[in-house]
Amino acid sequence: MASAVDSLRRLGPGAVRTDPAELARVDRDGSHLVGHAIASVAPRNVADVVALVRWARAHRRPLIARAAGTSLEGGSVPVEGGVVVDLSGWTAVREIRVDERTARVGPGVVNRDLQDALAPHGLFFPPNPGSWTESTIGGHVGTNASGPRSFRYGPTRAWIQSVDAVLGTGEVVHWGSRAAKRSVGPDLLSLFVGSEGTLGIATEVTVRLAPRPAVRRGLGLRLPEGAALGPVTTALARSVGTGLSAIEYLDRACAAELSGPSGFGTLGPGPLLLLEIEADDPAEAAARAARVGTILRRAGVRGRPTVYEDADALWTLRGRASRALDVRLGQRIREDVAVPLPALDRLRAELDRISRTERAPLYLFAHLGEGSLHPNYAVDPESPRGRRVRAALLRASLALGGTISAEHGIGAVKGSFLEREIGRPGVAVLRALKAACDPDGILNPGKLYPPLPRAAAGRPSRSPSGSADGRARRA
Ligand SMILES: Cc1cc2nc3c(=O)[nH]c(=O)nc-3n(C[C@H](O)[C@H](O)[C@H](O)COP(=O)(O)OP(=O)(O)OC[C@H]3O[C@@H](n4cnc5c(N)ncnc54)[C@H](O)[C@@H]3O)c2cc1C
Repeated sequence: MASAVDSLRRLGPGAVRTDPAELARVDRDGSHLVGHAIASVAPRNVADVVALVRWARAHRRPLIARAAGTSLEGGSVPVEGGVVVDLSGWTAVREIRVDERTARVGPGVVNRDLQDALAPHGLFFPPNPGSWTESTIGGHVGTNASGPRSFRYGPTRAWIQSVDAVLGTGEVVHWGSRAAKRSVGPDLLSLFVGSEGTLGIATEVTVRLAPRPAVRRGLGLRLPEGAALGPVTTALARSVGTGLSAIEYLDRACAAELSGPSGFGTLGPGPLLLLEIEADDPAEAAARAARVGTILRRAGVRGRPTVYEDADALWTLRGRASRALDVRLGQRIREDVAVPLPALDRLRAELDRISRTERAPLYLFAHLGEGSLHPNYAVDPESPRGRRVRAALLRASLALGGTISAEHGIGAVKGSFLEREIGRPGVAVLRALKAACDPDGILNPGKLYPPLPRAAAGRPSRSPSGSADGRARRA
């Protein structure tokens, strides 16, 4: 190991760190897993990244691209012996092309900082995950992240114009173009988005931008306990002339975590519906809010929505749900499934059944408008009970025509479930793609794909109970 680090230092592809504090930092992300890196490197430019990839191929060392490290699936946790490529310093907003409605950015730019840079131009980048004050555009590309406003605007994939990346071969690619539309075969850019650092390391991202709505309002109101979610959601999702851009949900237990004076306390206890509407002026916003109120009443929801003048503040507050549950529950199952809207209540019933059967308290929050649910269960994810809970809820989502990951990715947690969703031929296609982009399997091994026959050097470590894929230990 010492000789590997020595040769890395001699190569000098940016600052190489091996001090315990740094290794402890990069060994963890937002998940319960903990890895075992031998070093972190902060490359300065594309040439450094190319040199790192060549070095990793020669030394058969895993390279793990990392930005803010907020992945909830262990996506940025290094396998044992890995070298973390820290891109969090690549924060430049390099060019804002107002007429093309695009911006060229470094992969380490934090979502909120990008929004601040775009605001004077009347533009914004629509995906706004709950972690938007800390997570980065490179991380969003890695995971195809979404946020509350993805109900109207779609996930990150819809907002990436091009990516510059260094593949696992050491080749530099530019996938995408400046043209507004293209038809040049299967879309390599789309394949890269959501590839979790397993195909290449993005060194520049050109994002698409949307015009900022003149007025955005948050709306919040209590739902009756046990209210069916499907009819309310479909009524809102089908509405015309409401300017709805987000339909979010917190169950009673999650809402209680955010009920302090600076939280949702004024809405009272209970499950909460949180919405956003966009409008051209305050009068239109008020009319739209009234229309939403009418739709809700027709769907059986009583009460006047509370209006939040600052929609971003509402989403920042809503984004705290995950951190609040970290404090309340510590290690837990935090899942990320999505089903068609008409199946919402059947999935909800199944989640409750799992909770009762396994005696695992359920905390649920959701991006309702996309049928995207985050069931949190107060159970050790690596315990036999935790594994049963996860397997049961992923099976339930698939049985209802849904997916095993709406927005967090597969990471180190769900690779063994991938085949159930995309089938054996699908896994074979992904493996062929991986082999073409990363023939030595050096890029983020142990993530996304079921294990490759030819793994890179550096065996992953196992906790006594092992992780879902045995790729990283638990914290
Ligand atoms: C409190 C909290 C709330 C969250 N809310 C949401 C939410 O609402 N919606 C949502 O989608 N997610 C959410 N997440 C998950 C997470 O924030 C997102 O997945 C985010 O996109 C990760 O960004 P990051 O900068 O932290 O990336 P990291 O965690 O550093 O990396 C994520 C993945 O991308 C890869 N990667 C990073 N940089 C590059 C690069 N330059 N090139 C290639 N691959 C790269 C990594 O290898 C890893 O696989 C939340 C997380 C937390 C902690």
